[in-house]
Amino acid sequence: MTPNEPSTPARAPRFRRVLLKVSGEVLMGDAGFGIDMATVDEVAEQVGEIVALGVELCLVIGGGNIFRGLSTAARGMERASADYMGMLGTVMNALAMQNSLEKIGVNTRVQSAIPMDSVCEPYIRRRALRHLEKGRVVIFAAGTGNPFFTTDTAAALRATEMGCDVLLKGTQVDGVYSADPRRDPNATRYERLTYLEVLSRDLAVMDAAAISVARENGLPIIVFNIHAPGAFAQVMRGEGLFTTIIEADG
Ligand code: UDP
Repeated sequence: MTPNEPSTPARAPRFRRVLLKVSGEVLMGDAGFGIDMATVDEVAEQVGEIVALGVELCLVIGGGNIFRGLSTAARGMERASADYMGMLGTVMNALAMQNSLEKIGVNTRVQSAIPMDSVCEPYIRRRALRHLEKGRVVIFAAGTGNPFFTTDTAAALRATEMGCDVLLKGTQVDGVYSADPRRDPNATRYERLTYLEVLSRDLAVMDAAAISVARENGLPIIVFNIHAPGAFAQVMRGEGLFTTIIEADG
């Protein structure tokens, strides 16, 4: 069976079309910087499992493993220029992910918010929708294309534009905690939060702009640990550990 062929799973995934946001940091593995291809392959495997179930899938990949506009490395630079460097980093990650996905037979297209014709397609909403309908994974690169934004906001925006049922954020922790679980042993994981709770408690899961876009468009967000083997497929079935961010009566 190739990854693009639908199969009959024991328990069907709950969603028809989803957007997976992967932080750049996830792709650096244990290296502490840059792209670890073995880790990219692992994430691609998880994506392939979902595509094989017939789910239409979009990807947004961050750039924090390469460059962040607000990092110390960018100190002294004009913020907008530093942010453009960050966006270019996300294109490198997108190409790495495309390579890993195509190696295992998953058809992909990269669309960049900053046009770079000889590298990938420019972002064209209707074209991206057509790719999804044909079973291709669309990887959205270069964030929103605007400085002063993040790839989390790009993920909320693209998920809304593509009519996704849910935005899944694959991170290094298995959900949203009351404090950083790596530093505070008393930190507790939330099962469910409202958008307003995330904003008012200033929980560092996503920036406020991303949460606001999701809230205004009724886009549910699921936060989970993508490093756990098979975690993406589990979450898609509603199993395993994760936090759901949704409207109170949603
Ligand atoms: N960035 C930007 N506009 C966007 C998306 C990203 O300027 O719409 C820049 C910004 O400098 C950011 C960097 O790209 O720090 C990397 O993106 P992000 O920090 O969201 O990556 P992640 O934390 O998900 O790895």
